[in-house]
Amino acid sequence: MHPHDQTIFALSSGRLPSAIAIVRLSGSHAGSALQMLVGRLPVPRMATRALLRDGSGEPIDDAVVLWFPGPASATGEDVVELHVHGSRAVIATLFSLLSAMPQMRTAEPGEFTRRAFENGKIDLTEAEGLDDLIHADTDRQRRQALRQLKGLLGDRARSWRDQIIEASALIEAGIDFADEGDVPAELMAPALARIGQLLTEIESVLSAQGRAERLRDGLTVVIAGPPNAGKSTLMNQLARREVAIVSPHAGTTRDLIEVQLDLDGYPVTVIDTAGIRETNDPIEQEGVRRARDRAAQADLVLWLAEDDQADIERQGEAPVWLVRNKIDLSGDREGDCPSSSGDNPAFHISARSGAGLAQLLEALVGFARDYFGSIESGLITRERQRTLLDQTTAALRRSISAIDLGEELAAEELRIAALALGRLLGRVDVEDLLDVIFREFCIGK
Ligand code: GDP
Repeated sequence: MHPHDQTIFALSSGRLPSAIAIVRLSGSHAGSALQMLVGRLPVPRMATRALLRDGSGEPIDDAVVLWFPGPASATGEDVVELHVHGSRAVIATLFSLLSAMPQMRTAEPGEFTRRAFENGKIDLTEAEGLDDLIHADTDRQRRQALRQLKGLLGDRARSWRDQIIEASALIEAGIDFADEGDVPAELMAPALARIGQLLTEIESVLSAQGRAERLRDGLTVVIAGPPNAGKSTLMNQLARREVAIVSPHAGTTRDLIEVQLDLDGYPVTVIDTAGIRETNDPIEQEGVRRARDRAAQADLVLWLAEDDQADIERQGEAPVWLVRNKIDLSGDREGDCPSSSGDNPAFHISARSGAGLAQLLEALVGFARDYFGSIESGLITRERQRTLLDQTTAALRRSISAIDLGEELAAEELRIAALALGRLLGRVDVEDLLDVIFREFCIGK
């Protein structure tokens, strides 16, 4: 049986109990299920209050129901939404009734979105944007995801692909036309000009890409320094005082290895290298390995020390800020201070009392702001998208240089470029990718 002969259902809202829970159904049996529960089909796309009943007429809940007949629905199939009271008992009763219906089953993670994609409602970049939006923690991440969800990258990619196909049609027309000799220059020139323009355009999108990808993953700040400098204390301070902590990943030992902060909308992950230690616990080992990898690619190092003459160990390319701790003992003034380590700023703090931390956090926000720059221009948020656009520009470049060698060769390179864009949109040859992409989604999405 084709999987889409099956109607899927899932709880699309959050954890139970809750004031209201939304159960969503998609597939050709969604309508008959609604009819069974309500006794009739309500007016499409209108919120309708209705009493849900089981097969024997016993009431289940007082609900608001919505009926979206396909194809004008989110998934392109018949879709039903049941807004019920968010109790475990209501959902359990409803689920057992639905499960008992023929060709009805619970949805896999991301399966609603996958059906929307397969029915041509959204392209793959929009599906990725949707996933990012659901997982967005900060306001800036939300805005970026929404841009992608609205199809900004998809629209550009479609237009590029159309233009490449046109240019290749021009060249191929030339090939047919000039069986007996070279393709006439009047045909080649406009095609070449168009490819050149496209190349510049895609390259400029690519050059803005790094920052957009980083916004999705966040900026990484590492706390390093000699033993007992107060690294873990600073880490715990940050975790405690930064009200907008997104998700502190508690290490299984006494300390946090990573905390994620929302600094003025910028996602910043702080890693405590004191938390990186040898351990025999396999789960902790995995955490330590990840922290090490991330620390090696830090965007900024806070070097904690007790005096200004600290022996800073440089870690990679990242700038290092000297942070002099324990000023409650030395009696030094808090805040930023002239640095003995060159251009980078230096700070005086007490990780124990919290003195000077406000200035340090403010400087971190400034760093994040400069780092991300005018992020609004970023269209690419994933490695997958960047790789395919890299393949597109490489093929376009090859097609330009192949023109002198032979038009067939140039046309072939254009086909490769168009194929890469097709993959970006999920229109060709991506079956193997789909499982990976949709697996990351939530159930009910
Ligand atoms: P780490 O090895 O760099 O992680 O250092 P810890 O955070 O474990 O701190 C080492 C010791 O210094 C602990 O006893 C802390 O309580 C103490 N400590 C950390 N920060 C301060 C501070 O600002 N003032 C004072 N007086 N003690 C501190």
